[in-house]
Amino acid sequence: MSLFDWFANRRKAGPISEDRQEREIADGLWTKCEECGVLTYTKDLRANQWVCGECHHHHRIFSDERIRQLIDAQTWQPLDTHIQPKDPLGFKDRKAYGDRLRDTQTKTQLTDAVQTGLGLLDGLPVALGVMDFRFMGGSMGSVVGEKLTRLIEQGTRDRRPVIIICASGGARMQEGMLSLMQMAKISGALQQHQAARLLYLPVLTHPTTGGVTASFAMLGDIILAEPKATIGFAGRRVVEQTLREKLPDDFQTAEYLRDHGFVDLIVPRTQLKATLAQLIRLHQPRTAPALGLEASETEWANGLSSNAAAPIAVD
Ligand SMILES: [Zn+2]
Repeated sequence: MSLFDWFANRRKAGPISEDRQEREIADGLWTKCEECGVLTYTKDLRANQWVCGECHHHHRIFSDERIRQLIDAQTWQPLDTHIQPKDPLGFKDRKAYGDRLRDTQTKTQLTDAVQTGLGLLDGLPVALGVMDFRFMGGSMGSVVGEKLTRLIEQGTRDRRPVIIICASGGARMQEGMLSLMQMAKISGALQQHQAARLLYLPVLTHPTTGGVTASFAMLGDIILAEPKATIGFAGRRVVEQTLREKLPDDFQTAEYLRDHGFVDLIVPRTQLKATLAQLIRLHQPRTAPALGLEASETEWANGLSSNAAAPIAVD
């Protein structure tokens, strides 16, 4: 049913009772913006990639939706879907880690906090990893580390650029040391990718923190972020207590990090796919027949390097 049809039916049905209004919001027909409070028809919000048309607030989205937004239809080939998390330490906090894993898998229909795969982005072959904050806060345990490492290695073998959409609360404490070593493992794979002169583009989304920030999120050739994303290592309170200093209000936002040189580009979600495609095209070797730089792309690159000092080079 189109929006027009919906309104036409609605007019026939007479005024909406409050009860019914409440129920329809609950049913997900309408979505209320948590930033500006405006109600948007959910279908329209989805068409706008879950960015509020009123205030440009970026609603939180998850891995399936990210893949749908970035990868050309019918080209997604998931990798390593069989890798399952284990509980090698027999860890228990309020709940046994094994139970927590099983419950989260049932609830999210994911095996762990990342989906990886190969596909085309605007016709360009890429290796894409997407973290999912629903799965234990996007925490990085052995499965996240192993899947991302394999993805990067596959990207190196196929000479594909690697893109990782980051969203994480950091290392997964339930796996202790085993989760911490993933930082080094992924970084090692990225080093080999770089040595092969291949491109790596992390996209930092809300929130990117802890061990993810301290490793692959910050190792990109060009580091992209979504507007107003929280990006940091330790939480504000911990930093304030350690430094015994009050931090600025916009501390640990994408904008603050860009102004201080940690992030190269802030890209609204509605322009993310086009921007990634443009960056990949600019970095293709000159010999590749697909290059064919157009004037607009050259101007864009010039503009970019003058204000963001991003390492754009066409070689
Ligand atoms: Zn809004």
